Amino acid sequence: MVKVGITGGIGSGKTTVCKEWEKLGAVVVYADDLAKSLMVEDQRLASQIRDVFGDAAYRDDGNLNRRFLAEEAFSKGRVHELNKLVHPAVTKKVRELMDRAEAQGAEMFVEEAALLLKNGRPDIFDFIVIVTADKERRVEWVSQRDQTGPQEIIARMKNQQSFEELMPLCDFVLENNSTLAALKQKAADLYRKMLKLQNTGID
Ligand code: ATP
Repeated sequence: MVKVGITGGIGSGKTTVCKEWEKLGAVVVYADDLAKSLMVEDQRLASQIRDVFGDAAYRDDGNLNRRFLAEEAFSKGRVHELNKLVHPAVTKKVRELMDRAEAQGAEMFVEEAALLLKNGRPDIFDFIVIVTADKERRVEWVSQRDQTGPQEIIARMKNQQSFEELMPLCDFVLENNSTLAALKQKAADLYRKMLKLQNTGID
C-alpha cells in the first residue's frame, strides 16, 4: 500500500485532489475532520481539553462548544495549547486507520492535513505532496465556497506556515494554476505515477 501525506495552504485544492484519489481507490483521512470527531468521541482527549480549557469547552449534550474554543484558541492565542492535545490523538488514530486500510487491501492511504509538516517530514509516508495556488485565487475560491469575506480568509492564511519553505520536504508539487478540470487531471496522473513508482521504482 502506498502511503501519502498531502498538504497545502487554505483553499489550495487539497480536498479536490483527495476526492479524485478516493474515486481512484485511495482511502483518505482528512485530519481536520478526524480532529473534530476525536475531540468529542475520544474520552481521554475530551477530558484533557476540559482540564485545560474548562467545562465550557463542551455543551451540555457533550458536543464541542466551537465558538468558545475558537475564541480561546484564535482570539486569545491558545491555539498551540489546543494543538498540543489534539495532535497526538490524531497521529495515533491515523496510524490505526492506516493499518486497517492496509489489512483491507487498499492500494493507497492518504492523510490530508494543512499542518502535516509542522514538525518536519513525518516518516510514515512514502510520498509527500503539496498543492500550491496563487494567494489571490485561493482567497476568491474560499470566499465563494465558505461565503466569508476576504479579510477573514487572509487572516486565517497569516496563521499558516509559509508553504514555499516546506517545498524541500515534499516529493511532488501539484500546481493548481489553471481550471478545476486541469487540477483533477493532474491529481489522477500523480496517483498513477505514485502507484507505479512504488511498484517498480521506475518513473
Ligand atoms: P481548505 O484548506 O480550506 O480545506 P483545500 O485546500 O482543501 O481548502 P479545496 O476545498 O479543494 O481546497 O478547494 C477550495 C475551493 O476552491 C473549492 O470550492 C474548490 O472547488 C475551488 N477550486 C480549487 N481549485 C480550483 C480551480 N483550479 N479553479 C476553480 N476553483 C477551484
